[in-house]
Amino acid sequence: MEFIEFPTSFDAEDYIFREGDAGDCAYIVDSGMVEVSTIKGGRKLIIATLTKGEILGEMAIIDRLPRNASARAILPTKVTVIPHDYLGQKIDKSDPTVRLFLRHVMARYRDLTDRLCEVFEGLSPDQQAVQTDEFASTTMELKSVMSQYEKMQQRIDSAVTKPGSTAGTSLFGEATLMDTKILVTEDTRLKSALVKKEFLLHYQPIVELASNRIVGCESLVRWKHPSGKLFPPSGFIAQTEDSGLIIELGYWIAEEACRFQNRLFSEFQQDLFFAINLSGRQFDDESLIPNLASIMDRTGVRREQIKFEITESLLMDNPELASQWLHHLKATGAKLAIDDFGTGYSSFSYLHSFPFDTLKIDRVFVSAMLSSAKTKQIVKSLVNLSHNLGMDVVAEGIESDGEAQLMRQYNTKYAQGFYFSEPLTESEFIKLIRHPIIDLAE
Ligand code: C2E
Ligand code: MG
Ligand code: MG
Repeated sequence: MEFIEFPTSFDAEDYIFREGDAGDCAYIVDSGMVEVSTIKGGRKLIIATLTKGEILGEMAIIDRLPRNASARAILPTKVTVIPHDYLGQKIDKSDPTVRLFLRHVMARYRDLTDRLCEVFEGLSPDQQAVQTDEFASTTMELKSVMSQYEKMQQRIDSAVTKPGSTAGTSLFGEATLMDTKILVTEDTRLKSALVKKEFLLHYQPIVELASNRIVGCESLVRWKHPSGKLFPPSGFIAQTEDSGLIIELGYWIAEEACRFQNRLFSEFQQDLFFAINLSGRQFDDESLIPNLASIMDRTGVRREQIKFEITESLLMDNPELASQWLHHLKATGAKLAIDDFGTGYSSFSYLHSFPFDTLKIDRVFVSAMLSSAKTKQIVKSLVNLSHNLGMDVVAEGIESDGEAQLMRQYNTKYAQGFYFSEPLTESEFIKLIRHPIIDLAE
């Protein structure tokens, strides 16, 4: 059977397919926007929002089961239909192990998406906006299945387009097959999220414990998915690290944070320090340090007001190289902080060989401190050790007055946590900073 390409138009609100329909074709979105959703526990759960170049209904091509979700145009939309028989035939002609493997991958994919739906189902709309750990780990598993799927697509692709194959001459040519292959990965969606400006930063105030005055903040990235959900970094930073997108995203984050730092200074006369998280993967980019320096210059911030946060894992992978990088970064004039201290395996013994200005004590210690005398002792020693090494300390994840009091007692200079403020949008932050001393009596 020859592939017949027929672009089909749908008006906004039209269904392309409904849950339970026969799964006899897949679609590539040519224009417009499609929402894929399912009903779980009486609530509509949006699985994906797809735009130009993205593919939907592709599972039907593999296993021809009924649709397990509905797809509806949310704008006037054109799609190209890929009938099951077209690709089905190619798959059937392929090596039996390829078929077996592909079916296995698809079965796992379905199983995982079902689990993802179940996790979501149990959450309130507020909780859904912030992923649970279980959701994040299922997403990671899903990603690995998707990458296996992608590899299979590559094998099928090369089988289909190898010399002598008739597929290259069909209307469904090589370029579209390539698109199909690429578009099944989440990375592509994240890349387009960067292009479409779907990332944004929230800013969590950092207070000086002696005065409760906001003296700085940490910038924290979020992904505003077209479905309206706001994804925290645990749901996507690892993917951007795997694909290398973190390098481009990292520059966007640095520029956006520096721009806001400068805005607070020039419009509101608030010269706060801004902490920016760096992922270890960003150091693979040889131009990282000069590029960060030029971002700081371009945005007009004073370099000493920017503090780059690095986690212990970067130091542990290759301490000597990490030390060189950090010395170069420090030479730009920016400050450096070691983040989530205590969660990795870094040893106190060589902490002094890294040029950190600040040590951030991880929330796990802060939250265990009130109920454990041992943890209390560890926190106290950590603060003293940091001071002896010339570093100031930020206590992360302060959630109660008791925790804040104890950290004050230990002479911890700074604190950050929901007790003082959650991470805020730019406009919320501006509102708060008009009165920079946080009044906790209110
Ligand atoms: P982090 O750098 O340690 O950031 C602090 C995290 O703790 C934030 O989570 C913040 O919302 C959360 N937090 C703050 N106060 C409290 C509290 O009192 N209680 C509790 N339970 N949590 C609190 P978030 O925004 O989900 O970020 C998670 C991690 O993702 C960050 O940990 C950081 O490692 C990474 N991340 C965030 N933004 C970026 C970024 O722009 N670039 C990179 N490379 N990584 C980022
Ligand atoms: Mg951080
Ligand atoms: Mg941290």
